[in-house]
Amino acid sequence: IAWNNTILRDLQGEAIATLSIGEDITERYAIERMKDEFVSVVSHELRTPLTSIHGALNLLSSGLIDAHSDRGRRVIDIASEGADRLVRLVNDILELERLESGKISLLQRSCNAADLLEKATDLMQVMANRAKVTLSVYSQDIQLNVDGDRIIQVLTNLLGNAIKFSPEGSTVELSVEAIEAGENSEFEILNPELNSASASLSTNILFTVKDQGRGIPEDKIESIFERFHQVDASDSRKKGGTGLGLAICRSIIQQHGGRIWAESVLGEGSRFYFTLPSM
Ligand code: ADP
Repeated sequence: IAWNNTILRDLQGEAIATLSIGEDITERYAIERMKDEFVSVVSHELRTPLTSIHGALNLLSSGLIDAHSDRGRRVIDIASEGADRLVRLVNDILELERLESGKISLLQRSCNAADLLEKATDLMQVMANRAKVTLSVYSQDIQLNVDGDRIIQVLTNLLGNAIKFSPEGSTVELSVEAIEAGENSEFEILNPELNSASASLSTNILFTVKDQGRGIPEDKIESIFERFHQVDASDSRKKGGTGLGLAICRSIIQQHGGRIWAESVLGEGSRFYFTLPSM
């Protein structure tokens, strides 16, 4: 607690009392600590690709390497990958900041869930083909009042991750269904801690993205939704991710009044779920 003391004086300037006002600054400190931590993580994340761009340019300008040789082209590729990564990082950081500070407002309109799934799978089909992963879709004819582009963004993000962490020849399933809260035992088994929360809502629309990939360790299943949290330190390098995708998804879903969570069995696959309130 920070104390602010003020001496009360009478008209002659004689001190008559001391007024002490205490302010609980624990929360303010916590927020400042979080900001400091965020800035230091962001600086670290930005520094890595910047260092490789810087190093590559120095090498080329030193004249020690011919830019047109094989080695020169490899060095240029390194710089160009670093620049791509910087652009992705900066875009994701700005997007998350805008979402979390409420600077982006949702454009909620009536949308058909099956259309959203179809658009999201169309966008990810090329990536799936390249990774030799089959996309399969089960949808119901459900109307939603949502920002369609934002929900497609969440779906493509989840599909992208599912494809990224899946072996060749496997299948990624995407589905949407209406769930009667309190009556649907499957939903409660899947997500027992949500029972009380979901009981107050009459119907939820449940989206599922299921993969047969490497899975997620139990102790990481919640932290992956935090910014820059990745299961493996090499995930960003090897898989090109920023570690911000799921934080962006969570922010979008929460703004819609929904919830997002994951379940997984290591080595067998993962399931990502999110709910949206029905119309
Ligand atoms: P990234 O840009 O790294 O994909 P995300 O926030 O989307 O960032 O995901 C965070 C981390 O969660 C990933 O780096 C990965 O370690 C883990 N992860 C996400 N989706 C899956 C999945 N379907 N299977 C296995 N691991 C996953």
